[in-house]
Amino acid sequence: MKIYNTYSRRLEDFAPREDGHVRMYTCGPTVYNYAHIGNFRAYMFEDLLRRQLKVAGYRVTQVMNLTDVDDKTIRGAREAGVSLSDFTATYKRSFFEDLRVLNIEPAEHYPAATDYVPEMIVLIEKLIAAGHAYRSEDGSVYYRVKTFGDYGRLAHLDMSGLKAEARVSQDEYEKESIGDFALWKGWDAADGDVVWDSPWGRGRPGWHIECSAMSIKHLGESFDIHTGGVDNIFPHHENEIAQSEGATGCKPFVRYWMHCGYLVVDGTKMSKSLGNFYTLRDLLGRGYAGREVRYVLMSAHYRQALNFTFSALDAARVSLARLDEFRGRLEEVAGKAKGGSGLAALAPPGWAASRLGEFQAAMGEDLNTPEALAAVFELITDGNRAMNQGSVSAGDAAAVLGVLREMDAVLGVVAVPEAVPDAAALELLEARAKARTTRNWAESDRIRDALAAMGWDVRDGADGAKLKPRRA
Ligand code: AMP
Ligand code: ZN
Repeated sequence: MKIYNTYSRRLEDFAPREDGHVRMYTCGPTVYNYAHIGNFRAYMFEDLLRRQLKVAGYRVTQVMNLTDVDDKTIRGAREAGVSLSDFTATYKRSFFEDLRVLNIEPAEHYPAATDYVPEMIVLIEKLIAAGHAYRSEDGSVYYRVKTFGDYGRLAHLDMSGLKAEARVSQDEYEKESIGDFALWKGWDAADGDVVWDSPWGRGRPGWHIECSAMSIKHLGESFDIHTGGVDNIFPHHENEIAQSEGATGCKPFVRYWMHCGYLVVDGTKMSKSLGNFYTLRDLLGRGYAGREVRYVLMSAHYRQALNFTFSALDAARVSLARLDEFRGRLEEVAGKAKGGSGLAALAPPGWAASRLGEFQAAMGEDLNTPEALAAVFELITDGNRAMNQGSVSAGDAAAVLGVLREMDAVLGVVAVPEAVPDAAALELLEARAKARTTRNWAESDRIRDALAAMGWDVRDGADGAKLKPRRA
């Protein structure tokens, strides 16, 4: 699998540090409002990435943080007259609801910043000890950017201006240099009761240190993939690198940096501050479905800007209806198989296998969703033609459904129901269970092979053995 690494500005072959296991970190939402669909473009791209990695055979450990303390959440809680945690709880809940509606797979961990302040303090102490950070008069702590030689490499910035000690303006007198950023903010009245004790007095963490602390805690000092939108590259991710590598001395903090382009409206980034945004519930309220929004969000390559329009949502509805109709037709043809053993034909017909190959090649090449979707629609055209000609057997149709299911493991819009084992397969499964109680392993293996020939894999679990359709 190839992915584009923002750090090198190149397509690179992907290989995780640990064989078969990918560790990835995703900058999550600031929970002060409902996320808009521009935010969900980022979470969607990350969902496609994790699904693709899983299909490629990797185990994935994804961490997505929740920023539940910063200027915006504190201001929101004050204005609403409730505690910070009550205020953010509402938006955390709605965020998870939205993820479900968009069929975005849950990450393995969702750490909230307020639960990791001690870890942040430890990191800041390390940075001070290493000379990378300093205290200011007002009890804040700043990162001394000029001490980190690689600063600006991710964003490809020319740092010569900053390194030459730009004149510090009057209102930023606490900083030694204008590029320095806050790791810890000394308490001020606007913070109210949102405050933690620290070796530097009372205050609260800066935004950037949150992600360094939570990623290192869950994924280690060096991990595989870090994602976000392009607006995260600078300063947020640049600062994460400076903090993490500065504190641990471990390089690289992250091996592959991946960033998605903007969701735009009339050429302008969709954002809360510009007011040109829609939340998912806005769109559901207009009668659109989660999967239609999902489809639009993956219709452009993740690194390209994606222009949001209602006509794109309408077009998504038409495309999905075509997919549904195709699936229904296949199910009808597959259902004609005698005894329902249509899965006996494991290998899909050539035209379907080649479209699956194209689909997989496109997704394996830096998640090229437009090409992958083109392969899906060519599969539909080929399949409809073959069914019109009557040249698709029940077994073939079952196998093409399997192809669709494989594509949908990444796309998540078709939801082809899993095949249900027929009576013959279930009888064999029972016979296998009996053979195993009498420790007749040879018989158990023979039955397993017979099931495999019928298109079923046996999975042994705590609550007995189950049949899963074999992947072609
Ligand atoms: P925020 O809550 O602003 O920190 O944003 C959360 C995530 O959404 C970050 O990864 C941002 O890069 C991403 N994001 C925000 N606006 C857009 C947009 N219009 N298009 C794509 N991604 C966005
Ligand atoms: Zn972050």
